[in-house]
Amino acid sequence: MNSYQNEQLETLTMIRQHLDALGAAEISKLKIGIEDYLLFRDQVTHFLENHFTAICIQKCYQNRLSACCTKDGIITFFADMVINALVSDNADLDRLEHAIRQPADSAKCIYLSETGCGWNIKPVVCEFFLCDEAEKKAFNGNPDALQQWKKFKNAKQTYTWPDKIVLFEILERYFMDMGCKSPLMYLHYSPGLVRIRKGRHTEVSHSGF
Ligand code: SF4
Repeated sequence: MNSYQNEQLETLTMIRQHLDALGAAEISKLKIGIEDYLLFRDQVTHFLENHFTAICIQKCYQNRLSACCTKDGIITFFADMVINALVSDNADLDRLEHAIRQPADSAKCIYLSETGCGWNIKPVVCEFFLCDEAEKKAFNGNPDALQQWKKFKNAKQTYTWPDKIVLFEILERYFMDMGCKSPLMYLHYSPGLVRIRKGRHTEVSHSGF
């Protein structure tokens, strides 16, 4: 395994171990804490299905030109993994671990299988990736859809961008308080994001939720 695979596997394993050790009340608290985000992701998924599925099937799957799902090119946030683990069962997560260890296609993202992405709630970076051509095809002549897409992109920031306290930071902090540390905790370890977080002069209180 390369360093990308190691980081992914170590983080997923750590999250699974800690979630397994939590009691039902604590798991329920976490699940309630991500409800609003899941609703948001559901809305985005429906929007993408309505406006992009036909374009992507024609452009990428039939012509095999896919620019998405590139090898080791996807940033997965720690919170992405926690959220996905909370909505997945053991069999789902075992499959994900297997995909990390033995990717189906060595030239593509480790999580891409013959049946698609192995995540139940795929990383937010993936959900919001649209290639220029698809964007042009979907939004040219459809200003309402473009406007809605911009609204979704702004809404995404309210969960991920730490100029104020956001869900992705709260989830990192929650696991840090249990002694976890991962290179995927970008909101706490990426210099750029740390600068933004520090600029707001407020910190997440213990465990956040
Ligand atoms: S995580 Fe899923 S959606 Fe994202 S690049 Fe990999 S296979 Fe594609």
